[in-house]
Amino acid sequence: MTTVLSAHTYAEAYLYIDLTPCVCRETRFAPAMHAEGEDIRWYGPCPNCGRDRDFLFRFADFADHTTPGYIEYSHQPGPSELIDAAQWLWVCEQYAGTVPATIGELRAVPEQDRQGVRLRLSAAGSALDEVLKFLPRDEDEMPESALWSDWSQQSRAAAPDRFRRPWLEQRQDELRRLIISLPDVPAAEFWGGDAGYQAKIQRLGEVRALWVARHGLAGVDDDRVTPEQRHELQRAERAASDLDVATGFSLNLPAAAIAAYNRLPWAVQRHFTDDPAERDRRLAALTAVRADWLARTGHPSWDPDSIEDEFEIPADRLPPVAETWQMVRAARQAAGMDPDTGEFVAWPA
Ligand SMILES: [Zn+2]
Repeated sequence: MTTVLSAHTYAEAYLYIDLTPCVCRETRFAPAMHAEGEDIRWYGPCPNCGRDRDFLFRFADFADHTTPGYIEYSHQPGPSELIDAAQWLWVCEQYAGTVPATIGELRAVPEQDRQGVRLRLSAAGSALDEVLKFLPRDEDEMPESALWSDWSQQSRAAAPDRFRRPWLEQRQDELRRLIISLPDVPAAEFWGGDAGYQAKIQRLGEVRALWVARHGLAGVDDDRVTPEQRHELQRAERAASDLDVATGFSLNLPAAAIAAYNRLPWAVQRHFTDDPAERDRRLAALTAVRADWLARTGHPSWDPDSIEDEFEIPADRLPPVAETWQMVRAARQAAGMDPDTGEFVAWPA
């Protein structure tokens, strides 16, 4: 039996696979994947020695996906169970080393390269956030328990300052400033242009202030925040940011709507593992809404089973964005979900 590995996100699972070589030391691996109940298995042969390799992951919060265009390794408050502090720091610097290190250079990145730079910068920033999660609150020194291997111990011995709060927080600030300074992506689709971005920041500030006030908290990082309150804030932030509340995907991108639709069957399968008849009834409802919509509008179809490929669909094969999100909402409703939050609700028989 393969051990079930506990991952926060797909991004973290893929990174773990990348950081875990075959026994022959080969790191290249292009696995296939399939769902097994709540778990997802990545498997396939090592390209060097041909051994079968196999990883089985369970996700902390399956519904919680990364915003398209950004890499986020976790949305959980606690540290990773798969990747230790020294590995995260290494990942951070690997990504940070591939992008300009100053705001001036960053602003000069040609438009066509900005999305790639944004992805790598967000990966670096998110990896560093993961390092900091290993630091106990109010302590500056990384505990021994955050370093799981000889390699990690040696990394710290080589640069001890980099495992202390002052350096880490300063680095986090630098990376955040860089991410915010990157000029908008082509067509400004992610945020709706510079003005849209400024408005978004302002709306987010308002949403957070309201939430803090309503719950009598000291701030967004208040220790007393319950998971339900955190979830509520996340939804409010998404609603204020032109993001789909259920997935966090952009309402401005047709590929994001397709990605949201493609995740619905997974949600149904996960919710109704013990009730195959109900599961199949709801899966059929999802399929029917999409098929009707395609037949009615004549928009190009896509393969809903190729879950990783939505953002590779060429622009001329993408349906109009608002209409596609409408179809996603209708599909949720038809499968007994709240059209906004994606949560299962009482369903008229
Ligand atoms: Zn091998």
